[in-house]
Amino acid sequence: MRQKLVSILAVGLLLGACSSDDEKMDEAAINTAPVIQAQTFEVTENSEIGVSLGTIVASDAENDQIFFNVNTESSSAFRVNRSTGELTVGIPYQLDFEAREKIVVDVFVNDGVLKSNANITVNLLDEEDGLLSNEQKRTVTDFTTVVLNESIGEPGFVKKWEGTIKVFLDGNIANEFVERVVTRNTILNSLMTDGTRIELVNTAAESDVHIYLGPLDQIENLWPDIYNFIGGGNIAGVASIDEIDENYVSRKARMWLSEGDEILYFHEFGHVLGFGHIDRCDPFDIDNNSIMCPVAILGLDFTPFDQDLVRFTYHPLMPAGTQVSEVFDIIERIITGTNSDKNSTSLSSKVKNQPINPIFDLPYMID
Ligand SMILES: [Zn+2]
Repeated sequence: MRQKLVSILAVGLLLGACSSDDEKMDEAAINTAPVIQAQTFEVTENSEIGVSLGTIVASDAENDQIFFNVNTESSSAFRVNRSTGELTVGIPYQLDFEAREKIVVDVFVNDGVLKSNANITVNLLDEEDGLLSNEQKRTVTDFTTVVLNESIGEPGFVKKWEGTIKVFLDGNIANEFVERVVTRNTILNSLMTDGTRIELVNTAAESDVHIYLGPLDQIENLWPDIYNFIGGGNIAGVASIDEIDENYVSRKARMWLSEGDEILYFHEFGHVLGFGHIDRCDPFDIDNNSIMCPVAILGLDFTPFDQDLVRFTYHPLMPAGTQVSEVFDIIERIITGTNSDKNSTSLSSKVKNQPINPIFDLPYMID
């Protein structure tokens, strides 16, 4: 052991001795990392891509050319010019004062050999764009698509149930399936705050929603219209809205599910509740996924968006017959408790001064 230590020390001395004769090694020895300090910039939220925030200052003792890089793991909202250090907007959507008032981005500088980094803080300046964050605004847009425009019957109005929705499970129903439905109904009921609730009943006669689980041929006589709607198509589930009253309140519905496709239950039941389809179909991103994605995704639980769909639709502030122009204000009020009057007319003017057209194309079937 002692022997080894001595020999390493000898090598070290030898290196030190020859370094003064070697110019190249001398240079490397005195190179120091570029210097960058924490700095602060500001930018108005939602500024466009490419807008300049200014130039990040860094220096190098040897006056080597220095290069700038953003650590995109800290934030991808900004870009930095590799040679000049100019900081610009990369993703305007992320500059969202309602979501956060500042963004801290980690910026690296290097001189080709050594690097340093510092936190660059960007303060966001508020713009008069309402009280909702950009993500919440996206929810409003997609809510409008699912609940008003792509939903059952006449587009442009909220159609929903009121009071108790009596559901009868018919066909080849296993106990575990009933338990799963009861569990999910408990979640749905907890999200509905307008007095609507879902309850299982024991007969078709007393039901509002008649659900049949079984092979297609079993509904040929029971529900010939649904049977014909499916035709030879490769459809595993259908929801049929059979009755909506003049106030856009749903009254009767049927639902058929192919046996073995019980997982589609809550997609089809979403149609029964009044929801259409939405292109949020990424199973690996909970914020971009929905049970109302038209391509069935197995095992999907209610995502935050799905919970918002139920929460906002079945909220006392969102009556049946609500129109597209009213949706932003209502959801803004549900989320924040107040209104900014920024994106549409105020709630106080929400008097239905136009005749309500009855929905004539019933039953409305969707898969
Ligand atoms: Zn569907």
